[in-house]
Amino acid sequence: METKILNGNTLADSYLREYTDQLLQFNQNKIKPNLTMILVGDNPASISYIKKKQESCQKVGLSTDVIYLPTDTTQNQLSKLLEELSKNPLVHGILVQLPLPSQLSVPYMLKFLSPRKDVDGFHAYNTGKLFRSSKYEKLAPCTPKGVIRILEDNKIPIKGQNVVVIGHSDIVGKPLAVMLLNRDATVTIAHKHTKDLKSLTLNADILISAVGKKHLVTKDMVKQGAVVIDVGFSKEGKKIYGDCDFEALNGHVSAISPVPGGAGPMTVALLIENTLNAYKWWQKHEFSSKDVLLD
Ligand code: NAD
Repeated sequence: METKILNGNTLADSYLREYTDQLLQFNQNKIKPNLTMILVGDNPASISYIKKKQESCQKVGLSTDVIYLPTDTTQNQLSKLLEELSKNPLVHGILVQLPLPSQLSVPYMLKFLSPRKDVDGFHAYNTGKLFRSSKYEKLAPCTPKGVIRILEDNKIPIKGQNVVVIGHSDIVGKPLAVMLLNRDATVTIAHKHTKDLKSLTLNADILISAVGKKHLVTKDMVKQGAVVIDVGFSKEGKKIYGDCDFEALNGHVSAISPVPGGAGPMTVALLIENTLNAYKWWQKHEFSSKDVLLD
């Protein structure tokens, strides 16, 4: 069977070109769109993620600032900063790079972040909106949004399909499952406590893995002709792996996204899209006294 490779780099580039055009216009406004990122500590992976995000933003002409905070930053200091940025009309998107040092709590921090500027889509308000319908996904988490775009833009039907999502984290698996449900898929969520994973995955028309374990998904676990989206990311030395045995699945499935070059570049693209959505919302409501819920 010929397997279509779902190239996330090409798709992300087409989105980046679209954002470049939009930014050419927005940057002529008195207040330009701005994404402010906060990095607490000196985790090398986080530093490299922030750099990648900054590079992509620069490429499309999106203004970014990075605020570097020391590892021993307190909950109070971070909360105050988030409150200030949330009120600052020159800042439209705010991102706090995860993971945070152990003294800082993500749910607590999110209380001080305006849901309107929450471009990662982690705030309870934005998570809650996901449960309404696909109409309310303007600030949905970037990685799940990227996976949905890979499927939709490659014209892979979701409605009525059996979709198995491996991984149930707050930032990937859970929101992704809800977004698939919004599109009328029959969704099964598997995780590390799931019994007999293979019996579930063999039933999947679309299999999405977001775990971070090399070769968790082997050929014998996947139905012939299924679609596989690999979100997992792990490293052995300098080599990068997804969760799925790409070599074995190539020729067995109808389509598969590679790692690297699949979900990763789409995540960064969708971060820019979310920032533009936040900016557009701000523009629309700048002179409005009331905050419109579910807008
Ligand atoms: P996480 O550690 O929060 O969650 C991992 C999930 O995998 C959990 O739900 C856990 O129950 C499940 N799991 C662990 N072992 C399992 C097993 N043996 N069988 C089935 N399920 C198992 O991680 P996360 O933040 O959700 O990220 C998941 C993966 O996706 C990681 O590899 C991460 O690097 C990658 N990721 C990629 C991008 C991207 O842009 N491409 C973005 C976010 C995360």
